[in-house]
Amino acid sequence: SREAEMNTEKLKMISELAASVSHEVRNPLTVTQGFIQLLRQPGIDPEKQERYLQLALEELRRAQSIITDFLSFAKPQMEHIELIEIEGEMQYVIGVMYPYALMQNVLIQYEPSAGSYWIKGDRQKLRQCLINLMKNSVEAMPDGGTLFLRVQAVESYVQLRIEDTGIGMDDEQLKRLGKPYYSTKDKGTGLGTMVVFRIIEAMGGSVSVQSEKGRGTVFTILLPLDKSDPAISLKSPASRA
Ligand code: ADP
Ligand code: MG
Repeated sequence: SREAEMNTEKLKMISELAASVSHEVRNPLTVTQGFIQLLRQPGIDPEKQERYLQLALEELRRAQSIITDFLSFAKPQMEHIELIEIEGEMQYVIGVMYPYALMQNVLIQYEPSAGSYWIKGDRQKLRQCLINLMKNSVEAMPDGGTLFLRVQAVESYVQLRIEDTGIGMDDEQLKRLGKPYYSTKDKGTGLGTMVVFRIIEAMGGSVSVQSEKGRGTVFTILLPLDKSDPAISLKSPASRA
């Protein structure tokens, strides 16, 4: 069937991606291994020792960011679909991001949503998306700024807005956004937004981006509300009157 065909296509894409990502992780690990071997030399001079240590740590950090940006997506077999209440996830993710934002002088502004919105999906993957986007926003505000977060129902969808007052992107950058390994950062992976686009799409949602160079960026995610969510019936003509 058409659906089975799409699933096969998706699985093929995921395994190709996983292969290329593990290749990307292997490089820094191999380099680190080399430096550690060099450190074993007897009577190594302290200056060299310090330099090797620093390089090894830097490479490890690089492997770590690749895994952080990609982690839950790389494990399609671990997919676990459940009912997820969005407000709780927002609170969770804000808790995770808070120390990082604070360190970068970024204020997180979030008005908890009035209602509770339920969607069906993989909780870890949704968290991965929100963390990847918030991380990008914080990284786009090197001199500090504000990260505005908002959740609201829009017809039969829940809309998540992630808005920053950061460096923004021009049209050229926007076009390349989400392409594997596209990054403008020294230590970027170029995997973060790709993962977001693919996960949200797989959850039946959509992602849109608005950005202005020097002003900031807004990511808007739409995810279909679960059919049993009372927020949907609130939108029916009868109760709207
Ligand atoms: P990485 O963060 O490792 O560079 P991503 O896929 O997460 O990889 O992002 C790709 C690129 O998109 C970034 O390097 C940056 O140039 C741009 N980008 C993503 N989010 C934002 C944002 N909120 N503000 C400005 N630029 C962004
Ligand atoms: Mg990123």
